[in-house]
Amino acid sequence: MARDDLDELFGDDLILDHRRHPRNPEVIDGAAVKADGANPFCGDEVHLQLAIDEQGRVSDTGFQGVGCAINQASGSMLSEAVKGKTIEEIHDLRKLFDGLMQGRPPSEEEAADLGDLAAMTAVLAFPIRIKCALLPWATLEDGIAESRK
Ligand code: ZN
Repeated sequence: MARDDLDELFGDDLILDHRRHPRNPEVIDGAAVKADGANPFCGDEVHLQLAIDEQGRVSDTGFQGVGCAINQASGSMLSEAVKGKTIEEIHDLRKLFDGLMQGRPPSEEEAADLGDLAAMTAVLAFPIRIKCALLPWATLEDGIAESRK
């Protein structure tokens, strides 16, 4: 895996940990929600799958992708954060994350909901990379909309 400039800047924090050890890398066959997105600007590509149980909650997730550290870490964190959530709760979480990426500090409760995603505030120092952090979420949203057609 190619190192990029951000590897140096972020040191050994959570973002790098997710980038080096992406969570939930297995493709889920027959997933209820499948989403694929790309950002040609920096070569980011994300593939997400959600399995959803009878209660309407995410029972399993898959995340695969290539691209910059921010994008890959964000996708990996997303794949953890949405587990056990309903589609509505995922929408709420996305709003929370969008707010975070607009520089709005989360409350304590919101930070707990965000989990590792809260570490993405480091990206605010690199405005050009915010899109990279948001790509997995935008992709998932599209995939959810598609699955409901
Ligand atoms: Zn990127």
